[in-house]
Amino acid sequence: MAALPAYGTMGSVTRIVIIGGGPGGYEAALVAAQLGAEVTVVDRDGLGGSAVLTDCVPSKTLIATAEVMTTFDSSYEELGIIVADDTPPDEQAAKVVGVDLGKVNRRVKRLAIAQSHDITQSVTRAGVTVLRGRGRLGAGGQAVDGSREVLVDAPDGTVQSLRADAVLIATGAHPRELPDAQPDGERILTWTQVYDLEELPRELIVVGSGVTGAEFAGAYQALGSKVTLVSSRDRVLPGEDPDAAEVLEDVFRRRGMNVMGRSRAESVKRIGDRVEVTLADGKVIEGSHCLMAVGSIPNTSQMGLEEAGVKLNDWGQIQVDRVSRTTAPGVYAAGDCTGVFMLASVAAMQGRIAMYHALGDAVQPLNLKTVASNVFTDPEIATVGYTAADVECGKMDAVVVKLPLRGNPRAKMQGIRDGFVKLFCRPGTGIVVGGVVVAPRASELIHPISLAVDANLTVEQVASAFTVYPSVSGSTAEAARQLHIRKRADGES
Ligand SMILES: Cc1cc2nc3c(=O)[nH]c(=O)nc-3n(C[C@H](O)[C@H](O)[C@H](O)COP(=O)(O)OP(=O)(O)OC[C@H]3O[C@@H](n4cnc5c(N)ncnc54)[C@H](O)[C@@H]3O)c2cc1C
Repeated sequence: MAALPAYGTMGSVTRIVIIGGGPGGYEAALVAAQLGAEVTVVDRDGLGGSAVLTDCVPSKTLIATAEVMTTFDSSYEELGIIVADDTPPDEQAAKVVGVDLGKVNRRVKRLAIAQSHDITQSVTRAGVTVLRGRGRLGAGGQAVDGSREVLVDAPDGTVQSLRADAVLIATGAHPRELPDAQPDGERILTWTQVYDLEELPRELIVVGSGVTGAEFAGAYQALGSKVTLVSSRDRVLPGEDPDAAEVLEDVFRRRGMNVMGRSRAESVKRIGDRVEVTLADGKVIEGSHCLMAVGSIPNTSQMGLEEAGVKLNDWGQIQVDRVSRTTAPGVYAAGDCTGVFMLASVAAMQGRIAMYHALGDAVQPLNLKTVASNVFTDPEIATVGYTAADVECGKMDAVVVKLPLRGNPRAKMQGIRDGFVKLFCRPGTGIVVGGVVVAPRASELIHPISLAVDANLTVEQVASAFTVYPSVSGSTAEAARQLHIRKRADGES
């Protein structure tokens, strides 16, 4: 593609320096290069960032193995498949013989490195300069021409100085550690360390029942570990749709997971080949391994941010507006370091928006009400738009319909018992404002609802589009039909 000329200082090409090469950084780099800027990405660990190297891609690759095992395990009997060792389900963690975790983890790492390599290739092909090192803002502040200095501490100890007309900070976040639960990389682990395991943990204690905790707990349970999930809240997935969280917790328990609600872990100790997790009420749980999933900390320290006028909140996250501007002129921020909505897709969107704004292109401010997200458990939980909590607290007036998948013909054929489709629409206009799908591959099924929310489609429009018979997405159309009837009835009463 021919590069467009970018506006810049005194007619020259705009110099963009991006610190951090995750989705927030590398997507921005591609856009900025296409718009004709001179772009440098500085990254410490490798392009793709944590998303590709330690978080999103590795966890979903591990889950791909777990998914095959759960799908088989939970439906083979009903579907008439005979297995060699047909012992009763309660006597065996998994019907599949087992998993070679070393092999699974080698595949995980191979795919992650290959993806980082692909990203590096496409970014350099676009004309972006990639520098390995740790980036930070120079102490000099903004020069008269509006530019800033970025310093790069290279792995060989040298320091390079770059000049930027606009800087994008996209440094991501790292796992939070509790003072009395220090990871050792062998028995007490963060989510970035699990891929070094050669053998499946026999008894895994997962501390934290947010999205990361729930995904790993479900995955290791499916792989054959005996899992205890320690949650400080009443239920798992406190930030998700309550009906969806209830379905998942029920499935977890039914499959034999020990889900401990209202249990805050105070400390984790390694004793030989065992771990002991002490809860706030003094109770001690034992296991072979412990995975800590208690949130993350933004990578914003020692980068000269506050000195440059970039405001951070109490959690160290960078404050940004809807076009990714920080409080310092010429400094933008995107992704997990802003804490806006910690998803790879949102990081990428914030990064692109920053570049459109910095380079004077048409820009649409970030709209979080159209973000689609997914919890990669079995069943998956996909969500878009306004939520049940928004309706409950009066933030959005909406009519809601929830259809359990038990009544869906395709789900019956496939032996799917758990899950539902939920749609939210405005009472007067019928415009779809949100939805939740709990089903295998909900991440794929949410897209039509996502389109409807994004394009302000009405339930009538969603209902009138053909769906395949039989299909799980037939339930989305059926929910839309039911909302149309409900809306009419509400209007008449
Ligand atoms: C276990 C797990 C699973 C996840 N799964 C999903 C998922 O399925 N879907 C999804 O959308 N999101 C998922 N996420 C969230 C997603 O990974 C993040 O939202 C995403 O990585 C954010 O991208 P980013 O560009 O902000 O930062 P990152 O991907 O963290 O990249 C930041 C990069 O900056 C580098 N860096 C940091 N400081 C400096 C510095 N000073 N100088 C130079 N480089 C620096 C880092 O080394 C890193 O390479 C998951 C998160 C976790 C923890």
